[in-house]
Amino acid sequence: MKRIIESIKDGIAEAIFPSNIYCICCGSLIDGSRQYALCDVCVKKFHWITGRTCEKCGKALPDTYRGRTCYDCMRLDHVFEKGFSCLTYGLHEREVLLDHKYNGKGYLAAKFGDILYDRISCEDIHPDVIIPVPISAGRLKKRGYNQSALMARQLSKRWGVPIDESLLVRRKETTLLRSLNPADRRLALSDAFAVKAEHRLTGKCVLLIDDIYTTGATVDTCSSVLMDAGADKVYVLTLMSGGNRRPKEE
Ligand SMILES: [Zn+2]
Ligand SMILES: [Zn+2]
Repeated sequence: MKRIIESIKDGIAEAIFPSNIYCICCGSLIDGSRQYALCDVCVKKFHWITGRTCEKCGKALPDTYRGRTCYDCMRLDHVFEKGFSCLTYGLHEREVLLDHKYNGKGYLAAKFGDILYDRISCEDIHPDVIIPVPISAGRLKKRGYNQSALMARQLSKRWGVPIDESLLVRRKETTLLRSLNPADRRLALSDAFAVKAEHRLTGKCVLLIDDIYTTGATVDTCSSVLMDAGADKVYVLTLMSGGNRRPKEE
């Protein structure tokens, strides 16, 4: 029954936003051959991560940078095994992400899920389960959807790896994280997440999905909670990540 409802929903979305006819960013007419339903102009506005990346978190590294990990990973240990990311966060990415999150454009998620799939399916990792970073029940009610879960559903469908959306829960929202330093971010997040039904995680390899990665505080907190509940390993895949910025002298 769930599957029938899902396919009806897909059908409705397809009728309202026929894929590959209009560019998902600017709405101009395109033909079906355009990848991710992006027109030639919009596809170039994104900062696709195709070059060197941080060996730990997956952020893009400039060609001129000599280190193997980014500045953040040099200073901070991570709980997750390894991270992967598709785009470097810039002005255009910011706009698209805000549309996705707040302007009711949840339909962008299917294309983002395709982008995630193309990024991860060529890597040598074999997760047992895909888990999206949850939002709180209150925020879910207000927004109507969790943008990371929508992307993760499409990834799961394409890759054939099951998704579990009820295992990891968010007990509270943590706002204004951006203004905090890494240690305070971690503290603010420390009791924000919890695992339900721990037995489902024992010995499992998890792929955690989020929309944006900055210093990794959110995905590290989720990873600790998942590992404490018995997960064997946690990999992280995000749609976007912040650039490799040199930290200010403290
Ligand atoms: Zn366009
Ligand atoms: Zn890194």
